[in-house]
Amino acid sequence: MITNKKNIGLYIHIPFCERKCDYCGFLSFPMKETERSTCIDFLLKELKQRGNKPYIQDKIVDTVFIGGGTPSLLSGSQMDQLLTTIKESYNLAEDTEITCEANPNSLTNDKLKDYKSSGINRLSIGIQSFNDEVLKALGRLHNSEQGITAFKEARRAGFNNINIDIMFALPNQDMSLWKDTLNQAVSLGPEHISFYGLQIEENTPFYERYKNDNLNCVDDKEADRMYLTACEALKINGFEHYEISNAAKPGYRCRHNLKYWDMSYFAAVGPGASGYIDGFRYENPSVIKTWKDKIKNGHIADLNIKDKENIKDAMSVFCFTSLRTSDGIDTKEFEKKFGLSIFKAFPNIENIIYNYVNNGLINISSDGHITLTEEGFLKSNDFMCEFV
Ligand code: SF4
Repeated sequence: MITNKKNIGLYIHIPFCERKCDYCGFLSFPMKETERSTCIDFLLKELKQRGNKPYIQDKIVDTVFIGGGTPSLLSGSQMDQLLTTIKESYNLAEDTEITCEANPNSLTNDKLKDYKSSGINRLSIGIQSFNDEVLKALGRLHNSEQGITAFKEARRAGFNNINIDIMFALPNQDMSLWKDTLNQAVSLGPEHISFYGLQIEENTPFYERYKNDNLNCVDDKEADRMYLTACEALKINGFEHYEISNAAKPGYRCRHNLKYWDMSYFAAVGPGASGYIDGFRYENPSVIKTWKDKIKNGHIADLNIKDKENIKDAMSVFCFTSLRTSDGIDTKEFEKKFGLSIFKAFPNIENIIYNYVNNGLINISSDGHITLTEEGFLKSNDFMCEFV
């Protein structure tokens, strides 16, 4: 194990899917197999180029997250190439958490075995719902049976750290269907459950239907009730609700995602991916051709003095990322990090906080942590805006 180096995360963005889901606003495109394999070649090149940077060489990577898009479209040998390149180009910690996102319809038994032997040790399966009508309305390519099978096969292949993603406030979904999805999710026995409310993203078929009043959406109050029902159900079943949309069995919080919320540094590779290293933020081009051209010319997005984060921004980010978690803002840590109290940095915040406390939306602990309650999580966007 290498010591005296800062630990960072590494995110790899796989920019393709088999087909686009109707609600999806992520940067992913339907691609044929040859296009996909070209993209992987470029990802491998970028991984090497970025791994060579001195500000990466002096760090240890202890979390890797392969997201997308649909990483499970990679064959076993493509995943192996990806992992081999990472191992060759980065200082990986012995106990690195290596997560791969997967969709039920593209996971096969052989792939699962190959992924496992390549070094993937955490799977995040996009199940979204256990109701076929709801899945159809989302434009997903799998049905509920395939979701269940994918989870069970992953277990059989030896994955002992599995997240499943589920969604609420969906068209064709009422409270009883949501409760059924929650029950089925819990009864599969995953270590981690992410639960997201539907967001209507521009430039999606859902957005068009929403504008034309043709989406059969759940209203905001019902969506709030669905969220609180999930919080309750997950707690009863032994999950720690450690972030707005994430719950884990003790010891299974996603270490990579925690880096985003505690302002740890992370490198990122792939079109549209953005990294945060040594106080600098960088962003790769989201247009695939521009991204490829930069790699071809050896000019990948780099740390640039104009993108050095200023103290005011860093204080804001510290507050609103901390507020996403059940640990909340550690006011002592804030003072240690920035050299002044949070109430001096944000002079209006004291009154606002007490207002939220009086309405049961915020708790302040005796050791100086400001945390949103579960009802508070529902209003988190409003409160986070106070720090911008
Ligand atoms: S599989 Fe995921 S990334 Fe791909 S289109 Fe569907 S929601 Fe978007």
